[in-house]
Amino acid sequence: MKNALIFGVTGQDGSYLTDFLLKKNYNVFGTFRRTSHKLFERLEEMETFEQITTIKADLTDQISIQHAIKQSQPDEIYNLAAQSFVTASFQQPILTADVTGIGVIRVLETIKEYAPQAKFYQASTSEMYGNYPGIKNETSDFKPRSPYGASKVFAHHMTVNYRDAYNVFACCGILFNHESPLRGLEFVTRKITNTFAAIKFKKAQKLRLGNIYVKRDWGFAGDYVEAMWLMLQRQNPDDYVIATGESHSLEEFLTLAAEYTGLGDWHDFVEIDESIKRPTDIVELVGDASKAKKVLGWKPKVGFKELIKMMVDHDMNFFKSSMDPFTQINSKEND
Ligand code: NDP
Repeated sequence: MKNALIFGVTGQDGSYLTDFLLKKNYNVFGTFRRTSHKLFERLEEMETFEQITTIKADLTDQISIQHAIKQSQPDEIYNLAAQSFVTASFQQPILTADVTGIGVIRVLETIKEYAPQAKFYQASTSEMYGNYPGIKNETSDFKPRSPYGASKVFAHHMTVNYRDAYNVFACCGILFNHESPLRGLEFVTRKITNTFAAIKFKKAQKLRLGNIYVKRDWGFAGDYVEAMWLMLQRQNPDDYVIATGESHSLEEFLTLAAEYTGLGDWHDFVEIDESIKRPTDIVELVGDASKAKKVLGWKPKVGFKELIKMMVDHDMNFFKSSMDPFTQINSKEND
């Protein structure tokens, strides 16, 4: 039985990866941060919480990272932990650099010292590419447009560096946007499906959004965690783009989400709020996952429409079965 350690187990991808690895019979260890609020709701929703060992660790705290690695004796380490919200990275650039950028060196240094045999996965992102036009692959240049993207570029290069300099089995997955019913409520896709469901059940009236003229390559998180695992099963470490190869506008997303919730024309419910636009944004992101298809045998299974339907169904069911007040973050943010 292999041991896997997941930094960031409480997030969207952490929850899907936990489920995936448990089904592969791994012993799963996952790190969490101390907070004053409910933390494990995604793992509870997936009914995996009782099956894993949780360890308190923060990427800003080297000692806790050492402790997590020593305790779990990992064969595989997945670093999914990050300040992952682009808009927040403009508001907290130093924190973002510390967690999302330098935090990765803390993990890599600990691996070098205490677990040199462990295989390491780093969650890189399409946000590293910025606004260069065209479909992106593993050789495309990076020109990040946010503190989040810049921090991830740093972490990406450091991961490659530890692979080259110290022979760490380290892989970067350059993942394009991936969503699910467990996506954080502040991220724009989930904000849309959740607020539209709330409007349908008369728990909300309006959805406030920033820039709706962006295009993204959206896949399903459940498909993407399989790619992470496949990278670590190879003989040699390498970096891979993981994407669907299709780009869709946010307007298309809004149209389908409104249709699936039965709201009709989304223009009736959406307000554009200039104050929540990012200072700099990326017009379009679309990825070429040919290398992952060829080398890993990976391909996405869930398409764009099915993904939106899945998210809408989840959020509609929530409001149908719950008498709770509307607690979604229809905040002055969207990402
Ligand atoms: P989430 O925001 O859902 O999860 C992030 C995780 O990181 C959470 O478990 C969070 O803990 C944890 N975390 C935040 N700060 C710290 C810290 N200081 N120390 C330790 N843990 C911390 O992100 P996703 O699951 O969607 O994404 C997983 C990874 O993949 C992230 O690194 C993200 O940047 C990257 N990525 C995501 C993409 C996407 O479309 N989803 C695309 C490309 C890359 P807590 O629950 O306490 O906040």
